[in-house]
Amino acid sequence: MTSAAITVSQIAEYNYCPRRIFLRSILQVNPAPKPVHHIRLARRILLKELAFQRPNILKREQDLQPECEKALCLAVEKTRSYPELKSTPQDAVAKAADELRLEMPAFAQSLMRLKEEAGSVAANYLTPAVREPNLNHLQLNIRGTPDYMRQTPYAPVIIAENDAGRPKENEIFKATAYALINCAKSNAPPVSYLDDPLSATFTPVIITEARKNQVIESINAVQNILTTKKDSGVCPHGSHKKCAGCIYEEPCYRT
Ligand code: SF4
Repeated sequence: MTSAAITVSQIAEYNYCPRRIFLRSILQVNPAPKPVHHIRLARRILLKELAFQRPNILKREQDLQPECEKALCLAVEKTRSYPELKSTPQDAVAKAADELRLEMPAFAQSLMRLKEEAGSVAANYLTPAVREPNLNHLQLNIRGTPDYMRQTPYAPVIIAENDAGRPKENEIFKATAYALINCAKSNAPPVSYLDDPLSATFTPVIITEARKNQVIESINAVQNILTTKKDSGVCPHGSHKKCAGCIYEEPCYRT
């Protein structure tokens, strides 16, 4: 067992592609992000900002567009301080901002919908009283930071966009991991939630035996890579869909 706890981000990364753990943690490869990665990150930050602003968005319609613009500026600004993007070239940030600006009408529409639904939805779900809490499970040797804790029931929540109306598999996996960690506390429910503010959906993720096993197997596998310092041998190298969007594509194919 390694001394430092494995993180939920590490097992999610392993679940995406085992080789990424080897490249990042053992070979300490630190590739320069491409514009697509800036856009992805800025979009993610923007989504979180929108989610956390929900209780405050009961504004006049004409206020929504500036609200989006403000969130966009904040998102792009934050990409500059993100550790992996410290060396972000100015033009890449500008490109990310332009791409997101194109999406602003869609975001404004989503905010409008949130505004309409805020009365009923906010009362039940939108109380991010504990934002980005640190959770850990000593026995499983895993820790992580969900986006916020829902208060009733007290359960972790991840803010994540659905894909074609459904939560993404990798987000369900992370949500299961957070629910497992939270269960280390007595009386905690075996559930976590995926919150997509753009579609105003809130999806419960219950821990099933199969999901729990998948998380535990991933923890063990990551621990094994970190301890033995060996590649897992499980590698979807040449998986074009995954590799094409992967920040490690260039060093990975070279290694
Ligand atoms: S390029 Fe492909 S095989 Fe290599 S780390 Fe990325 S996803 Fe994995």
